[in-house]
Amino acid sequence: MQPQQDDVVAPVPARAGSTPSQLRRHNMGVVLELLHRDGPASRSELGTATGLTRSTIADLVQDLVACGVAVESGSARPTGPGRPSAVVRARPEGAVALAVEVAVESIAVATVGLGGEVLATERVESAVDALAPAEVVDRVAAMAGPLLAQHAEGPVGVGVAVPGLVRRRDGFVHVAPNLGWQEVALASMLGRALGPGDRPLPVQVANEADLGALGELRRGAGRGVGTMVYVSGDVGIGAGLVIDGRAMLGATGYAGEAGHMLVDPGGRDCRCGARGCWETVAGEEALLRAAGIDDAPGARALALLRDRLRSGDPQAEHAVGVVGHWVGVGLGNLVNLLNPEVVVLGGHLQQLHEHLRPSLETALAARALAQPRSAAHVVPGTQGRQAQLHGAAELVLAGVLRDPVARA
Ligand SMILES: [Zn+2]
Repeated sequence: MQPQQDDVVAPVPARAGSTPSQLRRHNMGVVLELLHRDGPASRSELGTATGLTRSTIADLVQDLVACGVAVESGSARPTGPGRPSAVVRARPEGAVALAVEVAVESIAVATVGLGGEVLATERVESAVDALAPAEVVDRVAAMAGPLLAQHAEGPVGVGVAVPGLVRRRDGFVHVAPNLGWQEVALASMLGRALGPGDRPLPVQVANEADLGALGELRRGAGRGVGTMVYVSGDVGIGAGLVIDGRAMLGATGYAGEAGHMLVDPGGRDCRCGARGCWETVAGEEALLRAAGIDDAPGARALALLRDRLRSGDPQAEHAVGVVGHWVGVGLGNLVNLLNPEVVVLGGHLQQLHEHLRPSLETALAARALAQPRSAAHVVPGTQGRQAQLHGAAELVLAGVLRDPVARA
């Protein structure tokens, strides 16, 4: 079986033997992808980036504008001597994705347009693990309604991030241990709940860490990086792997379950059924337990922990020291295995990075071999909780980038 990869990162070359019309549509996608990924550009910059001639670029820009997915403004931008050149940019409203994140302690929805512009967003803190899947679907639909009402054309699709094992081809969640979900046909449930009448919306579901990785790769700390590991810290811990600029999902799509790497053989039982998994010692529950905080995991408990760290509370400082050590142990395994350029930390690992860092770096230096260790920069993500939403939107917008004409 071929390993599964996202083809949303690098444009695919046009197939040999393409008709002129196919080639034109392909090239429209290439130009739109550049605008979407890298931001506004002049025609000459687009020509340099694609290797296409001036007149071809002029035609493609005209076509993209006619499709409603790009705009060209005459506003001058100083690019050296000579005539100021017009700037071409992706038109966010030209294709809007509904992005959804179902986390253990919150639900978020956002409308995201071309260029990665977040048009509107809403997040509600809630103990999602206490809700049945059908209740979560109802809540997502209720939150999405007002956001979608602002877009007469409707979204091009829905992308959903969940903390579980997802079969990508039909958005079926096999298991989400920290939500207590088993065998949930999430994509079809959401499609029916969100679509008008008998026309369900197309829904794509993926693992939250895979989408967090995609979000940071496209919009955050991973921009321009070839090989990256994104580690998402929540109640559970997940990893999204990017190898040579492409998301690596594994043979059947379930790669990156780093939270269930064995790091402490004599340790605690994990919700997955095994013992001593990474998330039992580096997840949010382990952190709060060590800090003596009884609140349920979530934004409030983390804010409380940060307050205690600010005031120099010794138990809180000890907790981040211990958890930082375990985070470093797990990262050592990943760095040895994958030799990443960048390790991006998300979730509570990002929020508490400055506190976790000393013991994390010590453990990482002790565990990882010197050469891959020196190549890997461990950095906090820049997108925070929006990384998953950006990734979910990318999943949907990839279809528009592949063929902007089909959208029009
Ligand atoms: Zn486990």
